[in-house]
Amino acid sequence: MIGFGFSRPVPIVIIGAGMAGLSAASALVQAGQTPVIFDKGRGIGGRVATRRVMLPDGTQLQFDHGAQFATAKGAGFAAVLGALQTAGLAVEWNTGGDTGGGRSQIIGAPAMSSLARGIAQAAGLQIVQNAAATSVRQDGARWCITFADGSVVQAKRVILTVPAPQLAALLGPDHDAARTGASLPMQPCLTLIAAARAPAPFTAARDNAQDLAWIAQDNSKSSRVSDGLTTWVAQSNLSFSLQHLEKSSDQICALMLPLLCARLGLTAGDIVFSAAHRWRYARADVPLGEPFLHPSAGLYIGGDWCLGPRIEAAWDSVAAIAADILARG
Ligand SMILES: Cc1cc2nc3c(=O)[nH]c(=O)nc-3n(C[C@H](O)[C@H](O)[C@H](O)COP(=O)(O)OP(=O)(O)OC[C@H]3O[C@@H](n4cnc5c(N)ncnc54)[C@H](O)[C@@H]3O)c2cc1C
Repeated sequence: MIGFGFSRPVPIVIIGAGMAGLSAASALVQAGQTPVIFDKGRGIGGRVATRRVMLPDGTQLQFDHGAQFATAKGAGFAAVLGALQTAGLAVEWNTGGDTGGGRSQIIGAPAMSSLARGIAQAAGLQIVQNAAATSVRQDGARWCITFADGSVVQAKRVILTVPAPQLAALLGPDHDAARTGASLPMQPCLTLIAAARAPAPFTAARDNAQDLAWIAQDNSKSSRVSDGLTTWVAQSNLSFSLQHLEKSSDQICALMLPLLCARLGLTAGDIVFSAAHRWRYARADVPLGEPFLHPSAGLYIGGDWCLGPRIEAAWDSVAAIAADILARG
């Protein structure tokens, strides 16, 4: 079955519309190429994510429940963030302390997901959503990408930007790149989002020794919708995440909420809304150490797990893939 109306081979297919996939696509489009991104999600940005909530009484809330902010070490990604700031889609976030490792903390405006949407719109990227790839196989000089609905798209080149442990599902567990991916486990992170009818005692706190390693007042960020409530995002540390990963979202919420209340000096009665999100593949603490994998002609693989657990690393990894493709012509 021909997939998504693509009856001819697509020059470059990118799997994943996280910051890595967007990086490659925008560089390729700027060079006159016509890549197509496919993502299994309803939105774009991957782990750079924003959740919007409407309570039964009409109260509207939003939470950056994935990446909290972006920082730039290198000039390339600094220029990307600078362009987003100029366009009004990113601003600095001052937490009142050094939570950004001495670098400016840049957030999307009005939401973290604005970073991804801004990049996609500026470059006019072609993105197919709700498209979960299930296998990627070579067929002569072409690549066949099969999707969950059974449709197939052919491509001359394919760039995979899924988390490393998920490569086996696409390439087969015996593929060399899948074996490499399996050797780079990614650590989970459990995230609590909550809204309270109480003032905030602080803006952000980081302490890996605590079960809640990161706590941030989300509505201290510019332009956040919170309808007069204080909104919070809390992330568990690694040992808590591993211990409770397989619990249900409700169970995780029930465990994390009292911890948050204790840190903020709140009672359960102050909490208006709470929910938990499980990031199974949140961060690669021991990255590959190379910008990308190129196991065979036409197949490229990258993402944050190549260079480090940061948005910039995801960007740089797959920018290097785009540069390699353009250099080969
Ligand atoms: C809780 C949390 C907090 C973080 N905080 C920060 C922070 O403050 N600062 C920072 O710099 N970094 C932070 N990070 C890390 C940062 O979010 C990541 O490094 C970066 O977003 C990774 O981008 P990526 O494109 O490589 O991967 P992803 O964002 O994971 O993108 C992969 C994309 O591939 C799609 N996909 C996966 N499988 C398939 C498939 N089979 N078919 C189609 N599509 C598929 C997914 O839907 C997703 O959109 C945080 C991460 C988490 C989880």
